Amino acid sequence: MPVRSCDLVVAEASEVISSPPNATPLRGEMLDHLDVTRFASVAIDAGRVLAVGPHEEITRRFTPRSVLDASGRVVSAGLIDPHTHLVHGGTRDAEYEAIVVGADPAATRLSGGINSTVAMTRAESDTELTSRAIDDLDAMLALGTTTIEAKSGYGFLPDQELRLLRILADLSHPMSIERTYLGAHVVPDGVERRNFVDGVIETLPEARLLADWCDVFCDRIGFTIPETRAIAAAAQTAGFKIRLHADQTADIGAAALAAELGASSADHLDCISDQGIAALADAMTVGVVLPTVALHMLEVVPGLVEGRLVPPPKADLVERVHAMISGGVPVALSTDYNPGSSPCLSMQLVMQLAMRLFRLSYAQVWNMATANAAHSLDLGSDRGTIAPGMRADLVVWNVPTHGLVVNRFGSSHTAHVIKDGNVVYSATRP
Ligand SMILES: [Zn+2]
Repeated sequence: MPVRSCDLVVAEASEVISSPPNATPLRGEMLDHLDVTRFASVAIDAGRVLAVGPHEEITRRFTPRSVLDASGRVVSAGLIDPHTHLVHGGTRDAEYEAIVVGADPAATRLSGGINSTVAMTRAESDTELTSRAIDDLDAMLALGTTTIEAKSGYGFLPDQELRLLRILADLSHPMSIERTYLGAHVVPDGVERRNFVDGVIETLPEARLLADWCDVFCDRIGFTIPETRAIAAAAQTAGFKIRLHADQTADIGAAALAAELGASSADHLDCISDQGIAALADAMTVGVVLPTVALHMLEVVPGLVEGRLVPPPKADLVERVHAMISGGVPVALSTDYNPGSSPCLSMQLVMQLAMRLFRLSYAQVWNMATANAAHSLDLGSDRGTIAPGMRADLVVWNVPTHGLVVNRFGSSHTAHVIKDGNVVYSATRP
């Protein structure tokens, strides 16, 4: 075989790990399988993976213009975070203390918290919101995340929601960002529900110019099944793809509705029913679970426990995650990054908590944070695995085995982050 030149070889990794390449999201027993190639290298050209294999083979086949030494380190696909509320103003750290010490039961009211973020978001200029979002993207990239989904949702009024989508669209950053219109987050105080839903639907054509995805918070503290169905149907007519916040605080049939709509993902699912699980599995809708929310909210949800703290996680949340896996739902992980219920930028921490809280294997959490997260954004044929032709979004981890990235919690293990074939972050000298 003739030797060919290439842009970059990531060389001599102790392990190159990847989900098995698959046209559809991984589920059931497949979720527990991870391809691990020891003493391997990855050849990259024009932003794509050319080849992956034993180092000697890659050396024989390719002459790289540059080499990144990965000896003693793990190489994986870049992490993918499919549910974030990236653009928002202010912080909710005071509310968090009030929840944790139980000083102010009213502070546990999730919708009240959202209202305060909406007020702080409106008070900040485009420049301020943009600068905060860029800082957050820098932090996510440094933590090994190379693609995120980002929603509007803290504007409430149509012009404010469109402003947030415009800010997202104008962000200039190496991170890939999938944009989502979440006009239907919660019904603002003092606004008539019917009028609000009509306003969300009327805004869809303009929002479609700025976002590919439409999301609805389908929950008893958000939007009802008929309201969600009406918004989603209009969104699909306008050309949006659908993802839903579903069954977070109670089972209202939101997961089954996500399946009925052909949604790419249904997120949260803390209270998903057996019927919801069967529906998601049939539709191959990815279930996105959010362990940092379970931890950070200490399971406090308005009306559910009346402000009383319950130790995380609820036993049945663990049971629900395993019921999803055994029931054939393709499961993915995400941060749900937002200032209230999950002010967490780190998919590393999400993987670490998911494994411990939900009792998952290393293979399961890696597959959920890479290939299945990509599939939940309809990007599974482009990224999320390391294979010839895939986008060269890779992370070199500063540990020799993939289990250690998950086992050693509390610090970041990224050594280098590669986006579209370029080294965009290094914790140490390349
Ligand atoms: Zn969310």
